[in-house]
Amino acid sequence: MDVGCELVQVSLDGVRETHDEFRGMRCFDRVVEGIRNAAASELGVAVSMAVTRHNLGEVRQVMDLAEGLGADTFMHYNFIPVGRGEGIAEMDISPEEREDLLEALVHESRSRRMNVLSTAPQYSRVCTGHGILSMTHFDTFGAHEGLGEEIRFLAEFVGGCGAGRLYWALQPNGDLTPCVFIPIMLGNVTRDGFLDVWRDSPVLRALRDRSGFKGGCESCDHRNVCGGCRARAYGYTGDLTQSDPGCILNAAGSFNIKVNSNKTGGVPQETPLRTPHQGARGPEGRLNEVISDESR
Ligand code: SF4
Repeated sequence: MDVGCELVQVSLDGVRETHDEFRGMRCFDRVVEGIRNAAASELGVAVSMAVTRHNLGEVRQVMDLAEGLGADTFMHYNFIPVGRGEGIAEMDISPEEREDLLEALVHESRSRRMNVLSTAPQYSRVCTGHGILSMTHFDTFGAHEGLGEEIRFLAEFVGGCGAGRLYWALQPNGDLTPCVFIPIMLGNVTRDGFLDVWRDSPVLRALRDRSGFKGGCESCDHRNVCGGCRARAYGYTGDLTQSDPGCILNAAGSFNIKVNSNKTGGVPQETPLRTPHQGARGPEGRLNEVISDESR
């Protein structure tokens, strides 16, 4: 039966021990089997990896494995400390580590058969620096020869964070949120008009008007192609329009930012982002394994 499914996305968060530890169950072998089965079908297969300090040094290994299993896409998931992630906010990588990782992904994208994408909107900025247009985390069109300039206007229109602009999220109970990582209920699909909420929500309007952003994201030259991760801004500051504290261009302002739990009625926790001096290359310099092996 054709139900119109074209793509499956499977989470693989490291090599066997790392994945099983992160997911809290022994499921690595079944995940690998699932990826292999999906790749053998006519479905597109994306392997997604939520990158934290826990698995930063295993990015290339996961990419090798995904490619070997026949995946079409490797998707770096930008860890956002919301939901259960709030309890492990200290696992978030620093702005410097994120920048190095995104640079490494661009490098990998040039030599891989797979698409190499990221949910970090800064990927659009980093790609642009290498002559590649990544309008969002959905594609890297500029990788195709000669297309860059022609579609630049599109990137400036739809680029970077797509929350409330290109997509939103439908929760299992029907609640509509700007994205799966922004826990703001906009309406419920069983009660409110789907299109009415999409058109009229003040929250979505705020996400679409980047001239209303604050701090570094307000004045940034890359505001239109990036816009910062709105979920990260909300998770750390409680304000959707604040600067994305995960961006290296905002790193100087990230010293005193805490995970904000006002959205759940709690008290903000003392969980500062790492300073630029802490772990800029990972606990044991492991990120160097990801980015500096030019011998591939
Ligand atoms: S400052 Fe904001 S808009 Fe500029 S690159 Fe960083 S996250 Fe994107």
